[in-house]
Amino acid sequence: MQTEHLIINDIVKDRPKIERAAALILAGELVGIPTETVYGLGANGLDADAAGRIFDVKGRPRDNPLIIHLAQMNDLDRYCINIPEAARILADRFWPGPMTLILERSELIPDIVTAGLSTVAVRFPDHPVARELIRIAKVPIAAPSANLSGKPSPTRAVHVINDLAGRIAAVLDAGPSRVGVESTIIDVSGKTARILRPGGITPQQIEEAIGSAELDTALFRPLGASEKPLAPGMKYRHYAPRAKVVIVRGEPGNVRDYVNEQPDRSAAVLCFSGEENLYTGKRTLAYGSETDYESLGENLFAALRELDCEDISVIYARCPRPEGVGIAVANRLLKAAGHEVVEV
Ligand code: AMP
Ligand code: MG
Repeated sequence: MQTEHLIINDIVKDRPKIERAAALILAGELVGIPTETVYGLGANGLDADAAGRIFDVKGRPRDNPLIIHLAQMNDLDRYCINIPEAARILADRFWPGPMTLILERSELIPDIVTAGLSTVAVRFPDHPVARELIRIAKVPIAAPSANLSGKPSPTRAVHVINDLAGRIAAVLDAGPSRVGVESTIIDVSGKTARILRPGGITPQQIEEAIGSAELDTALFRPLGASEKPLAPGMKYRHYAPRAKVVIVRGEPGNVRDYVNEQPDRSAAVLCFSGEENLYTGKRTLAYGSETDYESLGENLFAALRELDCEDISVIYARCPRPEGVGIAVANRLLKAAGHEVVEV
């Protein structure tokens, strides 16, 4: 299969390309779609066969459910039932945007999308191309991240092409994703709201909106052998480049000394801006300044992928403090590192 690369420079002039993508989706094909978080691998969310193909193409275990993407508020009541007040408040406040809600599902959603669960993950993306696509297709679009399972998520169309070319019908290319880390997932199907995955909407913002939200410590440590993951997807290794990732924590001088003492000649340092010259004899790549959590989020996955294109065996990484969007960045980096952290 030849993957069509549909470049969108102007949402009005290039509308035929979005219509083409919508037609492919309605024909049961898979399309890479730009969103503000990461690129998604979209299929018709009401078509069990098409949704099933997402798992095959990504190599995604079938017990890891998908997020459905909507483009108008009314649709929430079509695909979800027993919607609690907290969900309405969060939806009004943060949609369209990088937030996914877990709600009880209606019977319109095929089992394969929810991995047989009684709940469904729903999001209204805040990307003009994604929204236009969903409006034209007039179906909810089921889409996980458009990477091969386990790899860093794609934040540019070229990442999708590198992972999936030849296996999907098309990629809609609207440039780099603005947020760069996946959506904040909040389970509002139970008594208390629980954050299952940190993302672009921070725990503080959620608390301000609905009073409280539990952020589980399991997000920042490896799962025990008998422990049940909060979200089905959490039990899988994620976001990992081919190179081994080691987080080095401590004062910048101590981190520099530790890293410079490591003999690996094919090591790289994923550092903060301004630190590039601290490390001798190693490839350095800055992904943003230490406290600019938004830019760290925007660049993290692209940086991991860039280093992976080179012959690098170990990536020593600086990790931001778990504050604001830094919580999401730290969570992704910990997963990429398989929780290997050196304190210096
Ligand atoms: P991805 O879009 O690739 O980040 O994958 C979607 C994420 O949403 C995965 O981590 C899933 O485990 C999670 N998810 C989807 N549906 C549900 C659900 N019904 N309950 C809990 N988590 C879910
Ligand atoms: Mg994913």
